[in-house]
Amino acid sequence: MMRFDFDNSFARELPGFCVKWAPDRVPRPQLRYLNHALAEELRLDTGQQDTATLADMLSGNRVPPGAEPIAQAYAGHQFGQFSAQLGDGRALVIGEVMDGHGKCRDIAFKGSGPTPFARNGDGKAALGPMLREALISEAMHALGIPTTRTLAVVATGETVRREKLLPGANLTRIAASHIRVGTFEYYAARGDHERVRRLADYTIARHDPGLVGQNGRYLDFLGAVIDRQAALVAQWMGVGFIHGVMNTDNMSISGETIDYGPCAFMEAYDPKAVFSSIDQHGRYAYQNQPSIAQWNLARLAESLLPLLADQEKDAVVLATDAITNFDDLYQRYWLDVMRAKLGFNGRTPSRDDEDQALIAEWLGLLQRNRVDFTLAWRHLADAAEGSLASLRNLFADRVALDGWLAKWGARCASEDNHTQSDESHSAAVTRAKTMRRSNPWLIPRNHCVEDALTAASDENDFGPFEQLLTALKHPYEADAKFVRFSNPASESFTANYCTFCGT
Ligand code: AMP
Ligand code: MG
Repeated sequence: MMRFDFDNSFARELPGFCVKWAPDRVPRPQLRYLNHALAEELRLDTGQQDTATLADMLSGNRVPPGAEPIAQAYAGHQFGQFSAQLGDGRALVIGEVMDGHGKCRDIAFKGSGPTPFARNGDGKAALGPMLREALISEAMHALGIPTTRTLAVVATGETVRREKLLPGANLTRIAASHIRVGTFEYYAARGDHERVRRLADYTIARHDPGLVGQNGRYLDFLGAVIDRQAALVAQWMGVGFIHGVMNTDNMSISGETIDYGPCAFMEAYDPKAVFSSIDQHGRYAYQNQPSIAQWNLARLAESLLPLLADQEKDAVVLATDAITNFDDLYQRYWLDVMRAKLGFNGRTPSRDDEDQALIAEWLGLLQRNRVDFTLAWRHLADAAEGSLASLRNLFADRVALDGWLAKWGARCASEDNHTQSDESHSAAVTRAKTMRRSNPWLIPRNHCVEDALTAASDENDFGPFEQLLTALKHPYEADAKFVRFSNPASESFTANYCTFCGT
């Protein structure tokens, strides 16, 4: 038997924050993806199990012993508008396990049938979007970016109705927790300060155990969440990830990327890039992500106000300072990310202004020349070793590129107290190698993802999905076998590319 050593601390310690609920039975569960490495990390013994039994368990047909499935309540600001009542409409947390590193992880289903929070939704999920979540969440993990993970995708044998009829599926999601900004908003909106406090104490024990029992812990907790989000969004920006639906119910307190609906990766550098069909005004465009994160965190801060100080006006001052501090934190994390991508060592505050200007000029060049974001950075690593051709080929305005490269080269060389012409060959090779660890060769390109999903969903051919997933496990290593996944889409594909919520 696949054994889970379940705990159910959320349901036990926070009764009234969730509803006990069972997953739907499904007609013909078929295991389409099982993440063996993750199963091992979670210390689940899948080895002895036949796939039919695994499919039964991971479809919800046979709830594993010890599981106590719950639908969690939450609210949320969606595109700026507050909804007091959202909650897990089609998801269930089935329990928590302790992983091999002693970390508590939620095991959850997505697409397991309607719950009392489903409103008018069918509670189901389609196979294509669940495979998409598997691909992109696992790619994010391999890129080194905090994220919920995908343990499994099971086709249910049902048909779900979207714009057309589609095969149904249930995804098993693993998360540090499913506590969202919107979870706090739910109780704050009802004026239930006692529940906000209990939720905060539970969350602190789970995510910031160093703060348990400390005076001033709620402010420090807020600071810790702000810090994690600043770090997370800086990492998204470094790989061109666009979340697509940064509503407060899709922002995890743990600092993991959560909710892979309409997300996409940028191809040609465009700060205004946005792919989601419903994001008409570009609220969640690439360049807006830091300020939206800060806006969402302000909603968390508001929810925590009664815990921060006895007098509301004092609480507002503390919360405002904490939220304002996001700017500095984000800027620092973003500079760290960008410096690593440029091949510079560590934090050097004395060079912040110079480096900011260098980065701005580089990004401006990428934008004006409509250069693929991923390839540009990756080929910059080649340029560090003196191989300029691959980079130059990406640019129309090579004179401007050469001008910038001269400044960048001088900045690199100055780190080793050399003039540019002196920088030794071995220092250059080392720099290029280091840069390749911060500049992926492979990201889940939209056209490759769509090809893989179409083959799986329309033709029942899972080969392309499996190959892409395999390739994405090692995004920092160029591999001749997978060159086809490293090529940008045509400009017209990207111009017409559209992603969807409510999948
Ligand atoms: P999302 O856009 O995925 O973040 O979902 C927003 C809200 O809609 C959450 O409360 C979801 O549980 C709910 N939801 C999304 N799709 C469905 C569905 N097919 N059935 C029921 N609830 C859904
Ligand atoms: Mg959501």
